[in-house]
Amino acid sequence: MISVFGSANMDLVAYVSEAPKRGETVTGHRFRTIPGGKGANQAIAAARAGAEVAFLGAVGDDGFGAELRATLSEAGVDVRGLRQVPGPSGIAHIVVDDAGGNSIIVVPGANGTVTGPSGDDLAVIARSEALLLQLELPMAAVVAAAEAGRVAGVPVILTPAPAQPLPDELLDAVTLIVPNEHEAAAITGATAPAAALDALLERVEEAVITLGSEGALYGSRSGERLRVPAVEVKAVDTTAAGDTFVGALAVARAERLPVADALRFASAAAALSVQREGASTSMPTRWEIEDSLP
Ligand code: ADP
Repeated sequence: MISVFGSANMDLVAYVSEAPKRGETVTGHRFRTIPGGKGANQAIAAARAGAEVAFLGAVGDDGFGAELRATLSEAGVDVRGLRQVPGPSGIAHIVVDDAGGNSIIVVPGANGTVTGPSGDDLAVIARSEALLLQLELPMAAVVAAAEAGRVAGVPVILTPAPAQPLPDELLDAVTLIVPNEHEAAAITGATAPAAALDALLERVEEAVITLGSEGALYGSRSGERLRVPAVEVKAVDTTAAGDTFVGALAVARAERLPVADALRFASAAAALSVQREGASTSMPTRWEIEDSLP
């Protein structure tokens, strides 16, 4: 079983020719609500990739909260650890212009009320084969969950997004860190991925830097280095490619696949997801992933 302690957001996406400037009102051509949040995305990715998954987090007492719960549940995720708290759910207000550029406002809502794992959460974490964390919950809550994973001997996989300074107490509890290229540079100050990887390995046992269409770079403190190319596909929408990659990687590792095979499995899953629109809607099933592997 894989547990995900993280965020659930409703993405409110407006498509316009050009984003409005201050004081301006513009008419958009399309609007969609898409269940998201990095925590919920990774939980759905892992469930689709074939694992039993428990999601630990919070939604508000609004309609978005009910929809987020239903989406996770329909994907097969165990939502008994998803609390409902008074007030609004987390949202991401996204404006996408015709040139494909976007601007995003995230309002944490219920996610911001999470202070750490509850007693029940601790029991779920302790029974897990991996604990997935991201940085869309308050840092103190993420640190407490990571610590719970470490104490229970559960591998802790961290997606350090949105990028921010990482306290030592967090990294001391993390087994594997999976930033994208930009996050890796922000955390380490090194722009070249190979240098960023070395810098990450000074603080964490294992690291994967994802490089979009360039694939991914893996390293471990024991000296192993692997470069995994991306699968060549026509990308339609790369939203949540990283979350799909991490969800699938966690499943492969929980099944004790050798690291090179686990990375190929994750790359295959992510490549399938970029060929379809949306976040949770784009994530492939186990069957699709295995069918796409050479
Ligand atoms: P994020 O979504 O977090 O920014 P990346 O853009 O680095 O992360 O993508 C994560 C992974 O998704 C990559 O390592 C790669 O395996 C896959 N991926 C991303 N973009 C593409 C693409 N255009 N073609 C094929 N695979 C892709």
